Amino acid sequence: MPPTKRPLGEKKTPAVPEPAELSPRDHPTSPSGLRGAGPTSPSGLPTSLFELRGTSRGAGRRQPQKDEGETLSPRDHRRLGAELDLFIIDPMVGSGLPLWLPKGATIRRELERFIIEEELRAGYLHVITPHLGKAELYETSGHLPYYKDTMFPLMKVEGEEFVLKPMNCPHHIRIFQSRPRSYRDLPMRIAEFGTMYRFEKSGQLMGLTRVRGMTLNDAHIFCREDQIEAEIVKTLELIRRVYQTLGLTDYWVDLALHDPKNKKKYADNIALWEQSEAALRSALQHAGVKFTEAVGDAAFYGPKADIQMKDVAGHTFTVSTIQLDMLLPERFGIEVTNEEGKAERPVIVHRGVIGTHERFIAFLIEHFNGLFPLWLAPIQVRVLPVSQSAVAYATRVADALRDGGLRAELDESNETLPKKIRSAEVQKIPVMIVVGEKEQQGNTVTLRAHGGKNLGVKSLADALAFLRERVAQKSLTLG
Ligand SMILES: [Zn+2]
Repeated sequence: MPPTKRPLGEKKTPAVPEPAELSPRDHPTSPSGLRGAGPTSPSGLPTSLFELRGTSRGAGRRQPQKDEGETLSPRDHRRLGAELDLFIIDPMVGSGLPLWLPKGATIRRELERFIIEEELRAGYLHVITPHLGKAELYETSGHLPYYKDTMFPLMKVEGEEFVLKPMNCPHHIRIFQSRPRSYRDLPMRIAEFGTMYRFEKSGQLMGLTRVRGMTLNDAHIFCREDQIEAEIVKTLELIRRVYQTLGLTDYWVDLALHDPKNKKKYADNIALWEQSEAALRSALQHAGVKFTEAVGDAAFYGPKADIQMKDVAGHTFTVSTIQLDMLLPERFGIEVTNEEGKAERPVIVHRGVIGTHERFIAFLIEHFNGLFPLWLAPIQVRVLPVSQSAVAYATRVADALRDGGLRAELDESNETLPKKIRSAEVQKIPVMIVVGEKEQQGNTVTLRAHGGKNLGVKSLADALAFLRERVAQKSLTLG
């Protein structure tokens, strides 16, 4: 079904951009399944403005279910997360604060490595910023006065006030401003896996999709007006590469534009608005991405492109967003020196590729039904000796695989081979290597893919080369 377009709510304009990872339209359905305008904060803005981007927009979306013994669909990421030991939510640690177990952390690390490699190739500069910032920082950005309700409360130490950061933009802006910049420094692409904290009501929390602490694949591109289009094209290309590697080709873009009739809301910088929107549209056309335009859907500080996808349940969700911002540069007084030696104000492009890692991995768990492609699988290979007499050789095989950089483990149990296979199947391990006397004598291994496909008998060296190649290629299949 088409996404519901919900207006920004109050006429009053917020004093701060909707950050790249957030969307006012992502408010969840009410328990009745109806989509309302949502509660409003004292500022008059919908509190949903602060919600995590990436929640489902479709009606009939799953609601948080807290009852013990609730029945979750076999593909639900919460159920798979428990069955496959990917993550837990511990009441003593706190609701909405997932703990990534070794297997879940492995998936996340491999995904993050991949993103970093792609970003390095695309000219991003990675930074690391703290999880806290002074209240003053978020007063300057405008977050504190307007979104205090959805931030964790202020902490006072030595007469200064701090907040857990609700987004990364201000920290990145201060890095940009840490020295005088010239037009030659532009475009500058500052990236980080930034961890942020949002106060969400406990009743709203759900698995990895609605959390209170989240890490965003975040970046801020500082560029000149005439660089916007090229930067959007590059961003769309990065997104395409990442999604394609994961086998995700069915996505589209909702392009939110300003309403030229609403002079009051978009009073300033009409020329820049028009130029930015033309740049976004042209970049989308250039990239060959399906998109729809929605006039009047833009926030007051800039147009944006939301990248949309459907999850396995058929619900549309926003994976990520590319957002132009003409406001934060003004609030922080960001300037570069141009060719004439004069001060010039750059534009900021806020962009994500996979959105928050929590939400995206929840999606991937369901998308792959827990059976991750080899390069992402927490355990890539399990070695199954057919009998106790084959354990010594199986140990050598497992060691050789680990030495070769694969995540391999050995099943040393006293179970029968069919039971060992069954156990590896249940754990959704992509490859099983079966070894017995015959293999030991020939220094070979028998490879079996999850699901039963026979990958043949190979020498240990060939098997290792075969698997390493599949990992290096990030192949989605083993055949
Ligand atoms: Zn941002």
